[in-house]
Amino acid sequence: MAKGSKIAERIRSNVDRVRKQAKTDLKSVPPHRHCVVCRAVIRVDSDPPICSNSNCEAKHSKNERSRKQLSILMYIFPAIAVLLVILNVTGGGAV
Ligand SMILES: [Zn+2]
Repeated sequence: MAKGSKIAERIRSNVDRVRKQAKTDLKSVPPHRHCVVCRAVIRVDSDPPICSNSNCEAKHSKNERSRKQLSILMYIFPAIAVLLVILNVTGGGAV
């Protein structure tokens, strides 16, 4: 029993140390952002959040475009499904 509590004590002190370390690390890093493509450090106020690399710019605009297309599809597919259900209920719109 005594052995077990000793190990628990050691683990607890380790966790405390790591927690304190993480906190001081967070404080020592100045506010900054990362390029969404290559993760390079960039200015906090840079918009879009990419570095000056032209490769990253191209990749970012491509990602942005596919993201927009995806969000459009997210609206179109349910709309088509609803339309199909309505058509089914009303018998294809025939009177
Ligand atoms: Zn970059």
